[in-house]
Amino acid sequence: MNLVLFGPPGAGKGTQSDNITKDYNLFKVSTGDLLRDEIKKKTNLGNKIKILIDSGKFVSDEIINDLIKKIISNPKNHDRMIFDGYPRNLNQAKTFDILLNSYNLKIDSVLNLEVDKDILIKRITGRSVCSKCKKIFNDFFNPPNNNHSCLPRFLVRRPDDKAHILENRLKTYFDDTFPVLNYYKKKNILHNISASSDIGSIYKEIKDLLVSLNH
Ligand code: AMP
Repeated sequence: MNLVLFGPPGAGKGTQSDNITKDYNLFKVSTGDLLRDEIKKKTNLGNKIKILIDSGKFVSDEIINDLIKKIISNPKNHDRMIFDGYPRNLNQAKTFDILLNSYNLKIDSVLNLEVDKDILIKRITGRSVCSKCKKIFNDFFNPPNNNHSCLPRFLVRRPDDKAHILENRLKTYFDDTFPVLNYYKKKNILHNISASSDIGSIYKEIKDLLVSLNH
């Protein structure tokens, strides 16, 4: 099966795609993570990407499509991919279909995580990630304490999680990404998940849905 996790920044795509990846032995494709890996390499491209991400803007479709092509062209990933944060506009969604078709692949389901705006803001502005164990925490909902064994100095906040940059990211989401939902609705593969509650309840809803879809 191939899945897409859809939703605004702060919807919990990263956390829930990690859960699904583990239980279903999938390969997670997060374009955000791939871009942050490129930034860490401090290449020319990485430096350009950093400027865009840190200001809450999208990276060009050309760069994103190149990253995705590399993943989809690898037969090891076929029929076990979960996409987090991609596609993010209609152009990407159409290119994605052409690419999948060329390998005889398809997206089985798109899970749309729906969250109230005030919760999104808390999820983003309270978020920290451990640079060592990669666990995601939140000051409001899931603070790091005895659930985290690494030293506190490993906890980092994403530069684009600041409140004023989040406004740009939310605007871009509603202008450019939201229309993609209709594209998948027309294909009858869109499923809405109410994702304002706690991580465990949301994941239960996702699992029940996947079971009901025979995935
Ligand atoms: P994320 O980790 O998914 O929240 O992504 C962080 C940032 O990376 C986004 O705010 C964008 O600047 C950039 N980004 C990630 N995925 C995409 C994409 N599919 N298209 C364009 N930009 C992206």
